Amino acid sequence: MAQRVYLDWNATAPLRPQAEQALRDALALAGNPSSVHAEGRAARHAIERAREEVAALVAARPADVIFTSGGTEANMLALTPAIETSTEKRPRGKLLMSAIEHSSVRAGGRFSRDAIADIAVNADGRVNLAALADAISKAPRPLVSIMLANNETGVVQPVSEAAAIAHAGGGLLHVDAVQAAGRIACDIGALGADLLSISAHKIGAPKGVGALIRGREDIHFPDPLMRGGGQERGSRAGTENVAGIAAFGAAVAAVRRQRAEEAAHMLALRNMLEEGLRAISPQIVIFGAAAERLPNTTLFALEGMKAETAVIAFDLEGVAVSSGAACSSGKVQPSHVLAAMGVSPPLLRGAVRVSLGWTTTEADIARVLGAWRKVSGALSKGSKERPGMAA
Ligand code: PLP
Repeated sequence: MAQRVYLDWNATAPLRPQAEQALRDALALAGNPSSVHAEGRAARHAIERAREEVAALVAARPADVIFTSGGTEANMLALTPAIETSTEKRPRGKLLMSAIEHSSVRAGGRFSRDAIADIAVNADGRVNLAALADAISKAPRPLVSIMLANNETGVVQPVSEAAAIAHAGGGLLHVDAVQAAGRIACDIGALGADLLSISAHKIGAPKGVGALIRGREDIHFPDPLMRGGGQERGSRAGTENVAGIAAFGAAVAAVRRQRAEEAAHMLALRNMLEEGLRAISPQIVIFGAAAERLPNTTLFALEGMKAETAVIAFDLEGVAVSSGAACSSGKVQPSHVLAAMGVSPPLLRGAVRVSLGWTTTEADIARVLGAWRKVSGALSKGSKERPGMAA
């Protein structure tokens, strides 16, 4: 049987060999990182080395990094009205977020529902900065949350411009960089982010680890969600996931060395994929194609195609792709991202995401295109035979 082709890297990435090695090494460490003896100090050392790597990935200081159980927890920790700076202790009244955020941001953290407002996006999938400025003029000093790159379309958001607008209105900016980190430059200072979330499993480390990073020393880390011991400088109680964190550090070290090369590799293959898709299906719509996107992501639809049918058909051909956000796959719902971009209902239900990684090859792209030839052929035959069934 032909090998399977995994093209769902935005859902999660396979372990990098360096991360797997670090994971094994750290699993052998017996000590608790809070203990003062040699075993404890060895575990502490593994965590602190990883903290240095993660900080360097976004050009922050190690002291600015809090390890969490993943991107979801980092987002949840960040989004609180009680976010303070050294000079400003008053709670934030509003949370302004783009309409295309991941569900872990859309949930609003510790803000009440009525304190949350959406910022519209343009048809190309980029946040509408005029709408942000307008919202801030009506609700000064908000916490603003805007992702660096969207998980469905891959569209890169104008984060540094949003930071300038937020700061001019007395606001603070949280950036969900879970999909962007390791794929594009992610310098926290250049972005103007006050807080930034990343997740280990999108860059080749195990699932269940992430980090919240602050962009300025005078930002106080938010009140902990986990209370108990004083781990992570009092911001996240509980004995640390030493092996997961060590593997996170190793994956980050690898990605820091290889990012430019990996990005160029993925972009060349992604371009090949999109040219092939367009050649097979001239009517295909590739979302966000006119905007700057992550080098590895393509989200496309064909009128008449149902995403769940297409994903199953690809799977039967040995190709793993996704119908939009992984967190909501299993229950296929129209994408809130495409709805926010004003995509028409017939296309909304048919979006398929192909996301590439550092081990993707030209042969994988040939396989996905071969599968698409069959899948799209069968779909168009089906829609001709059963008009009205396709939407
Ligand atoms: N933010 C974005 C943009 C994501 O794509 C994801 C996961 O898909 C998350 C946050 C959640 O991260 P985690 O799976 O580590 O909780």
